[in-house]
Amino acid sequence: MPAPNIDTIVSLAKRRGFVFPSSEVYGGLGSAWDYGPLGVELSNNIKQSWWRWLVYDRDDIEGIDSSIILNRLVWKYSGHEATFNDWLVDCRNCKDRSRADKIVDNKCPKCGASDFTEARPFNTMLQTRLGAVADDDPAALAYLRPETAQGIFINFLNVQTTMRRKLPFGIAQVGKSFRNEVTPGNFILRTREFEQMEMEYFVSPTAEHSKLVDYWVEQYLEWFSSLGLIRENLYLYEVPGEELAHYSKRTVDIMYRYFPEREKPWEELMGIAWRTDFDLSTHSKNKLDEEGKRINPDSTEDLSYFDEPTKQRFYPHVIEPAAGVNRTVLAVLMDAYSEKTNDKGETRVILKLSPQLAPIKAAILPLAKNKPEIVGMAKAIKRSLQPVLRAVYDDTGGIGKLYARQDEIGTPFCVTVDHQSLEDEAVTVRDRDTWEQERVKVSDLAEHLQKRLKPYPVPPPEPH
Ligand code: ATP
Repeated sequence: MPAPNIDTIVSLAKRRGFVFPSSEVYGGLGSAWDYGPLGVELSNNIKQSWWRWLVYDRDDIEGIDSSIILNRLVWKYSGHEATFNDWLVDCRNCKDRSRADKIVDNKCPKCGASDFTEARPFNTMLQTRLGAVADDDPAALAYLRPETAQGIFINFLNVQTTMRRKLPFGIAQVGKSFRNEVTPGNFILRTREFEQMEMEYFVSPTAEHSKLVDYWVEQYLEWFSSLGLIRENLYLYEVPGEELAHYSKRTVDIMYRYFPEREKPWEELMGIAWRTDFDLSTHSKNKLDEEGKRINPDSTEDLSYFDEPTKQRFYPHVIEPAAGVNRTVLAVLMDAYSEKTNDKGETRVILKLSPQLAPIKAAILPLAKNKPEIVGMAKAIKRSLQPVLRAVYDDTGGIGKLYARQDEIGTPFCVTVDHQSLEDEAVTVRDRDTWEQERVKVSDLAEHLQKRLKPYPVPPPEPH
């Protein structure tokens, strides 16, 4: 039973230290959020899982970390300056401003009227100025990147030559992106500052691009299921031609059921796009247009590739799976949410996070906090586990309350040190999902927990 709505997660996230409204002491900043002690662990675990899965487990992907602020020309030639627009309409009745593509049944989301102004473009790149310059000096204008992808494209040759890569191969990057969203909202689903996990998979112009899109869709469905997402809560959306971005020949969005309570429950979790050779050619100095003119007189490099077997030079095509960290965090929290009633008829929240994602893997709890031997033993166990897994010590309540707290934040195991532990050098290990308890020797504890903490099974990535 996943969470019934996003509000349930907002309240849990704030109550238990996953996510806080940002700048709260000054009344907040519309739709900006800060990740708390548990949220940062969860989001780091998602990013690490992704990085391990693509960069370590496979043999055909490298990682990079490029700048957030790039030369403005990158955004000119990528097409973002001219086309990275949202289309805006104003409601003539209540003056509310909306994204034209988000209007349902031609009704204003605020007042329900159907009287809108003509749609007009609004560029959603966030601007900044570099250096100590006058406010209106156009040469100082720069953008905070709206996608991490361009940092990958402009480094294509650097990575390919230094790592001696041959096609097909990919470059992965995770990091912040910024968009001046017209209508941010729905918690961490749509914010102006967010994090992306993007991978550009470079292939030959004659590769079977559409099949590769399907291949990456399948790979991501498997990865999401290893994170604990329920397959029925994911839906594949074949983006129709008129909605495709200027660089894309085909895009499939993986949608998640963020709004189970609504008639239209789906929003995009990620997109997998065939970006053709658009990006590498547009940044290249030798690419000519139909009239034989250079399309990019500013570039000093040619991002083409020489294919040894066919002795041909070309601009590689790209398949891009682009996922959002924050939307993954939200989906994971929603699907992990469950409630269970105990013997006393009390309803408890249990966050059934995949063990690999749980912010804390084991909580070490002393049964009696006024017994120095028990407390000392519990603290020593915490320290001994720390090098192999994230553990915490907690003695701030009775054992029932401590268990309930750990269940609510998704800790897979509670380890209780009691009077008998002092005699038999053993502890009780309690399972979050079944509430079953097992007695384990302290000397076997690290190995015992590590074995049980294995991530949900995910088949090894298959080469295509
Ligand atoms: P949407 O249609 O929801 O605005 P998009 O199609 O513009 O999304 P992409 O450009 O495909 O999004 O970006 C890839 C991924 O980055 C998205 O699938 C999403 O997970 C994430 N993302 C994009 N914009 C935001 C945002 N404003 N807040 C949080 N995550 C975002």
